[in-house]
Amino acid sequence: MEIIKNEYYTMTIDDIGDGGEGIGKINGYTMFVKDALIGDEIKVKVIKTKKNYGFGKLEEIITPSPYRTEAPCPIAEKCGGCQIQHFDYKRQLQFKEEKVKNVLERIGGLKDIKVNEVMGMEDPYYYRNKAQFPVGKDKDGNIKIGYYAARSHNIIETEKCYIGDPINEVIIQKVKEYIVENNISVYNEEKHEGLIRHILTRVGYHTKELMVCLVINERKLPKQDALIKKLETIPNIKSICVNTNLEKTNVILGKKTKTIWGQDYITDKIGDVSYKISPVSFYQINPTQTEKLYNTALEYAGLTGEETVWDIYCGIGTITLFLAQKAKKVYGVEIAEQAIRDALSNAELNEIENVEFYVGKAEEVLPSLYEEQNIKADVIVVDPPRKGCDEELLDTIVKMAPKKVVYVSCDPATLARDLKYFGENGYTVSQVQPVDMFPHTLHVETCILIEKK
Ligand code: SAH
Repeated sequence: MEIIKNEYYTMTIDDIGDGGEGIGKINGYTMFVKDALIGDEIKVKVIKTKKNYGFGKLEEIITPSPYRTEAPCPIAEKCGGCQIQHFDYKRQLQFKEEKVKNVLERIGGLKDIKVNEVMGMEDPYYYRNKAQFPVGKDKDGNIKIGYYAARSHNIIETEKCYIGDPINEVIIQKVKEYIVENNISVYNEEKHEGLIRHILTRVGYHTKELMVCLVINERKLPKQDALIKKLETIPNIKSICVNTNLEKTNVILGKKTKTIWGQDYITDKIGDVSYKISPVSFYQINPTQTEKLYNTALEYAGLTGEETVWDIYCGIGTITLFLAQKAKKVYGVEIAEQAIRDALSNAELNEIENVEFYVGKAEEVLPSLYEEQNIKADVIVVDPPRKGCDEELLDTIVKMAPKKVVYVSCDPATLARDLKYFGENGYTVSQVQPVDMFPHTLHVETCILIEKK
C-alpha cells in the first residue's frame, strides 16, 4: 500500500524517537508523529513522505495509551527539560531497556544480548543536583528566568521544577530581585548584549551545601554586594561565584570563574567518599542513581585489592576514588585541568594515596604512556562523553589486554559502536546494566562489563 501525502490513516505507536516523537508503522512504512505516545492508537495525517519513512500530524487519539499519565508539572509539555513526564514511569524504564537492547543489536551487532532490567528510582522527582537557568526578557521587557522550550531558545518561566531541587525557586527569586532592584541588564542572545546570561546552581545531596554561579557577559558583576546580601542568608549556601562568558555561543560556561563569596566549591558524598565540586567540573547530576551506577561498576571490576586499574575520562576522580578503596593502584586520565586539580584534592580529602592522575586527551595520553612505559592494567574503566571513545584509545586498551573493561556510557549508540570494536578484538560483553539517571527524559546511562575471551 502506498502512503499518500495529505491522506489520513490509523496507526498504533510503538516507539519513541530521539526528539520525543511517537514512532509507528502503517503497513510496514515508518511514520514519525509528534505528541503521540507508545500505546496510542491514532488517526494521523501524512504531511511529508520520504522513501522509507514519513512524518505525520496527530489528528486524533482514537484509543489513548494505557501508559499515558498526568504529568505533575504544569509546563511539562512546553519545557525542553523533560520529554516523557506524561509516560508511566515503569513503562519509561521498560522503554529504556528495549532501547539499549535494540541499539546494541542493530549497531553493535550483539544478537540476542541479555540486558538487565533498568535500575529505576523509587521516587523519580526532584533528583537533579545541578540546574542551569537561562535569563532573558519577554517582549514586554519583563525578566524571564526558567528553562528553554523544547528545540528552541525561548525561555519558559519556571517557578517550580519537578526534577530539580526546590531550593532553586528561592535562588531564582532572589537573583530576580537583585536584577530588578539594581537595574542590571540581562542577556539578549540575538544581539549578543546585556549582562546576566545564566544562573547555575549546585546542591550537595548528602551535605545540602549550595553553590550559586552567575554566568555573565562582562568581566565584572556590578553591585556585587547587593547580590551577596540577597543570597548569603539562604541556609547552607557555601559558594557564590561569577563566570565570565563573552562569546556568542550556546556553550553555557566561559573559561574564567571567580568566587565572590565563600568557598570555590561545595562538598558532597557518594558512598563513603567525599568530593569537592567546583562550578565548571563534570559531576553526575543524579546522586542516588550515581551511587547505584558506581556500585555496579565496582562490582563488575571484581577487585580484590591486588589490581592495577585505569579510569579513563575520570573527571574529578569520582570513579577513581571509588575504585581505589578496593584496588592496589588506580590511574585517572582526564582532559580538563581543573577537574584534575579537584581530583587531587579529593584524594587528599579522603586520605586515599593509591591514585595518580594524568591531564590530557585520553586518546593521546594512554597510547603514548603505553609506547614509552609499557603501562599495564588488570581492569580499565572508561566513562566517555556522548561521542564515545576514540579508536586510538580503543586500540591501546586492546593492546594493554586487561582482563576486564568496564564501560560507563551515556549514549547507547556510541557505546554499541565501541562494543563492536571490542567484539572484533578478542573481547566479549558479559553484563549490560542500564541505570535510569535521568527520569522523564529520553536519556539512558548504561554500565557494561566486557571480558577478555
Ligand atoms: N567519570 C567521571 C566523569 C565522566 S564525564 C564521573 O563519573 O564523574 C566525561 C569526562 O570526560 C569529563 O570530565 C570530560 O572533561 C572528559 N573528557 C572529554 N573528552 C576527553 C578526552 N578526549 N580525553 C580525556 N577526557 C575527556
